[in-house]
Amino acid sequence: MDISNKNYINIAGKNISIIGLGRSGVSAAKLAHHHGANVFISDANDSELNRHFLNELNRLNIAGESGTHSDRIFDADLMIISPGVPKESSIVKKAIEVGIPVVGEIEFAYWFSQYPIIGVTGSNGKTTTVNILGKIFQTDTIHGSICGNVGIPFSQEVLADTINPDAKRVYILEISSFQMEFILHFHPNFSLFLNITPDHLDRHGSLKNYIDCKLNMAKNQTDQDTVIFNQNDFELQQAFQNHKAKTIPFSTIHQSGLFRMNETKIYGPNHESFIGLDQIKIPGQHNIENIIAASTLSFEFGISLSHISKVISNFSGVEHRLEYVAEIEGVTYINDSKATNLESVIVALSSFNQPIILILGGRNKGADFHNLLPHTQVNQVKQVITYGEARHEITESFGDAVRSESILDLRDAVVTAKNLASPGDVILLSPGCASFDQFDHFEERGNMFKKWVNELDLVI
Ligand code: ADP
Repeated sequence: MDISNKNYINIAGKNISIIGLGRSGVSAAKLAHHHGANVFISDANDSELNRHFLNELNRLNIAGESGTHSDRIFDADLMIISPGVPKESSIVKKAIEVGIPVVGEIEFAYWFSQYPIIGVTGSNGKTTTVNILGKIFQTDTIHGSICGNVGIPFSQEVLADTINPDAKRVYILEISSFQMEFILHFHPNFSLFLNITPDHLDRHGSLKNYIDCKLNMAKNQTDQDTVIFNQNDFELQQAFQNHKAKTIPFSTIHQSGLFRMNETKIYGPNHESFIGLDQIKIPGQHNIENIIAASTLSFEFGISLSHISKVISNFSGVEHRLEYVAEIEGVTYINDSKATNLESVIVALSSFNQPIILILGGRNKGADFHNLLPHTQVNQVKQVITYGEARHEITESFGDAVRSESILDLRDAVVTAKNLASPGDVILLSPGCASFDQFDHFEERGNMFKKWVNELDLVI
């Protein structure tokens, strides 16, 4: 199937294989089916959830398999792969070898999307920024829809808008580096690059590959489009020196962006007072960066400063990201379960002025926790509690430099933290590791943490 010109792509009657029965694969299957393709979806994992999705698709007359990849997947005019499938996988290699075009779900959904697209990427802060934008982009004339890596597949939103068109629609897409591996025509009108720090190097191999993958998001942008990037980030500054699109930096340090700040306020493009820092509810310097990034984009899109600042002053954050849980006997409990890398732990630590009891642990994604040591000292960490699979490794990497204790499971870690805390302390779950050793995902870890904190008064 020839997909070289987006305007002539016609999938009606074509065989499309979809690899991966996750949410994005299932939504892509429905979108392809709606446009008349013969869809076959396949996932090597035979989980209960996969079987459930497969049954749902079967009821729509979409065929598929779970627990195996049969040869039928190569009887295809097009292959759509889920973000979990690496480009080095044998399936992708074989498909390319036999001449089947391979695209990602974002690329596929893009072929059928009819409304403006904002793409947001970066190593950290994507979900927070997309959620801020999602709230700003609700006006009389704009109906923003957040999707992509936030858990709502782009295909799902595109299909819903195909069935019920909404001329005010703007897609605000959170994009991970994996989702940019198989991009051909995908072309956001606005792209926002928050930061690039080494994460997922296990999958991408080298920092250069990882950066190139993220930069793919802007590769089709033209002089009609806009790129907004973090000027504090050297890699991004270099990458956008000579880009075709209109490039606009944002920064919390340099004075060159549209929004500038001092110790008390952020100022707008004409040096007018935009918002006081004391009006911002979400903690930390990193969130100011996210706010300035979202404001720059919204202003460039044509949204009024008064609307943007009003929304920001009402924004209270996203679940599992430095989320306030409770204050019990003068001790504040914070859930930052989403912090699965060291950069996130570092920004979490710098977001508080009080003494911190830090809970770290889970499954290490390859981080060297020794690098955290200077930050524990600068930021008044009075005690570290490690839990889970990585607990001994983390404790050993700290040596005697900080007081630390290893506890097998998170529930006991919470109780231990409570017993060690004094009024005025913050107990911070910012684990710096993946959750998969004891939980299905970081949301489950965060929910259980909140539950156990709220049960603490029952613990004697
Ligand atoms: P993502 O979707 O990119 O993973 P989130 O908004 O979910 O990002 O935030 C994840 C974690 O990253 C948060 O818990 C926070 O500690 C950290 N973080 C958020 N924004 C930034 C930023 N701009 N720079 C560095 N770290 C950040």
